[in-house]
Amino acid sequence: MNWDPSRLSAHLRDDARGIVTVGSRSTVPVFPVRARLCFQDLPRNGCACGWSCTSLLLSSPDTPICFAPARPTPTEMNSVTTFVAAAGGPLESHRQRVLGGSTFVSTARPSLPLPLGSATCTPPTTAPGAARRAALPRMAAAAQDNSKRALRRAIVSGDKFNRKGFKDTADIAKAEMSTEFTSELIAELREAAYTIVRGGVTVQLAKAYGFCWGVERAVAMAYETRRQFPTERIWITNEIIHNPSVNARLRDMGVLFVPQEGMVKDLSGVAAGDVVILPAFGATLEEMQFLTETGCQIVDTTCPWVSKVWGTLDKHKRAACTSVIHGKWGHEETIATASFADKYLVILNMAEAEYVSDYILHGGDRDAFLAKFSNAMSEGFDPDKDLSSVGVANQTTMLKSETAAIGKLFEKTMLQRYGPADLTTRFVAYDTICDATQERQDAMIELLDGGAVDLIIVIGGFNSSNTSHLQEMAEHAGVTSYWVDSAECVSANNRIRYRASHGEERVVDGFLPAGPVTVGVTSGASTPDKVVEDVLERVFMIHKLSAEVPVGAST
Ligand code: SF4
Repeated sequence: MNWDPSRLSAHLRDDARGIVTVGSRSTVPVFPVRARLCFQDLPRNGCACGWSCTSLLLSSPDTPICFAPARPTPTEMNSVTTFVAAAGGPLESHRQRVLGGSTFVSTARPSLPLPLGSATCTPPTTAPGAARRAALPRMAAAAQDNSKRALRRAIVSGDKFNRKGFKDTADIAKAEMSTEFTSELIAELREAAYTIVRGGVTVQLAKAYGFCWGVERAVAMAYETRRQFPTERIWITNEIIHNPSVNARLRDMGVLFVPQEGMVKDLSGVAAGDVVILPAFGATLEEMQFLTETGCQIVDTTCPWVSKVWGTLDKHKRAACTSVIHGKWGHEETIATASFADKYLVILNMAEAEYVSDYILHGGDRDAFLAKFSNAMSEGFDPDKDLSSVGVANQTTMLKSETAAIGKLFEKTMLQRYGPADLTTRFVAYDTICDATQERQDAMIELLDGGAVDLIIVIGGFNSSNTSHLQEMAEHAGVTSYWVDSAECVSANNRIRYRASHGEERVVDGFLPAGPVTVGVTSGASTPDKVVEDVLERVFMIHKLSAEVPVGAST
């Protein structure tokens, strides 16, 4: 099939924001690239754009096209990614696909915003700032080292990379957070051994709940950043944590959220001199590299528990193991984590782990495997080769018991497949479930085992992984449980709108029984105490109202 560059150009313009995505794998939210296409009819490696377009390679031999980044670096030149577009079909911007037999190989990194469909390449024009000039040699050296770890270390050691927050504004931030997020009711509950009675409602609070250390630290750093840079433009690459009220508060403070459509972020609005906060879940290596090269002041609030997992991936690599990550491939933390791995496979649960284990032991349908994990594996993943030695890692907020069981399954699988002599080279695992997740899950078990609650209310953002697992635990225990993200889910007419652990939204009328009732309460690691208080106040109000309605009266 002949490639028609003018049609590609048209497709680029047709794209919603004129953005083509290229990246190291198909569905990672890689950077939007405002593509500059060089349609010069030149032989391979003979492009006249003035750059060393080592990536120049086209599927259609008679129509060479240079798909060049705006600012090629040695890293880019090493980081060659295939993306495939259809000649004549719609350009699938976020997915790798073979259509029409047209295959492009392009350097894969974010470029600067550029006009679309430019007919020729021109050298980059951005003048680097001092910090960027300082950062680039380190990053170039890291690129020669050819390791993601080296690149990450080069980035985080930059002058404009802050991982500690700002002492000068720490006290103000702390006072603001205390005013906005703490709750007298929850303090009272703690002092009363986690149980209080109001009217006919007994509340039992889980002994570990709410804001974890990592979240508190991240939010504090964001508040400090706002005070430290009162006039600068401040961005955040994602929600700071999974709580709607906290994110809304940051918006109120003038923090800009990087636009995102589906899985794709648009960083084209971020400019040199801007301040960019990386959230508690972390950011991808590509994002960090882009922001450093752009000359931004970066404030990295990534929870150390998350970066500990990234260190684990380095160990996998040193042991020549593929990283099997127990997590959700679309979750911000796992997306960031995967970006630090060379070879990886993300599995969601024990069912997927068993599928992979079976493939290791008995082989299977390779195409079916690739289709099943198409969103959840590294570029070029080959299940027939890349599962010969595995290291298990996890998203920090997964169900601890499941992560442990998955680790054991893979250990057993490698033992069975390769024998005991090879086990140490075929399998490695480290426990990287964070303490906060574990403590909240342990406290939930205690609440459930107590057997005293009539129902449980789990409070946390609907995109919060650790909260979903708390709800899941209650469901598995057969206890009526409602996962809400704010007091708005609880209506005065005794109606509750809630999520089940797997995401379905449900509504229940009359969720709070009349008469004496014991309500168990817990909250996810991103939930301020104030939100828990607001929910409980509604519960008290509903109970009071129902007690006031005469028997037989219509409501
Ligand atoms: S839940 Fe754990 S990993 Fe996540 S922010 Fe809190 S302490 Fe860090």
